[in-house]
Amino acid sequence: MRCPFCRVDNDRVIDSRSGDDGATIRRRRECVACRRRFTTYERVERQMLSVVKKGGVREPFDREKIRSGLAIACGKRPIAEETIEEMVSAVERACHDAFETEIASRAIGERVMEMLRGVDQVAYVRFASVYREFKDARDFVHEIEPILAGDAAPRAEAAAPPAADEERREQTASAAGAAAPRVARVVTPGR
Ligand SMILES: [Zn+2]
Repeated sequence: MRCPFCRVDNDRVIDSRSGDDGATIRRRRECVACRRRFTTYERVERQMLSVVKKGGVREPFDREKIRSGLAIACGKRPIAEETIEEMVSAVERACHDAFETEIASRAIGERVMEMLRGVDQVAYVRFASVYREFKDARDFVHEIEPILAGDAAPRAEAAAPPAADEERREQTASAAGAAAPRVARVVTPGR
């Protein structure tokens, strides 16, 4: 690392410590030439993820949009702000884990639904009704049936509108485990 004072590229690290969130490492360095000290921060570089929307329009991945969608679905439900925040982070992680550069907005919606499903079934159905554009009561019944049946079996193919088919294939292909983090991952504050 080039010294910011004398520009000589020769330093030694005198202290390394992890940032509060574990996502950064702070290193205290001393320039061997001028003996002055400076600090560097190291963090994992995440490639920007583009979201491909229904009409093919792309926009940057925005966790705030996930948060607002979740907050609306969770309105007046006994769900802590902290839990919502954890779900947002878990969805963001799942999206980054499964996709490198681009993700369909549908794929994000599916992951949000996976999260909500394990946390609050009312919020889940609310989110599904908007996201899947329920047309009538029958759509609600389709979505709720597997929950009532014990929540163990995967959702019936028939419940999904044709638009979700492509997504479904992609999700299946990317191995259920990685694509659909379970509740435990959400509830545990982690680290
Ligand atoms: Zn120096």
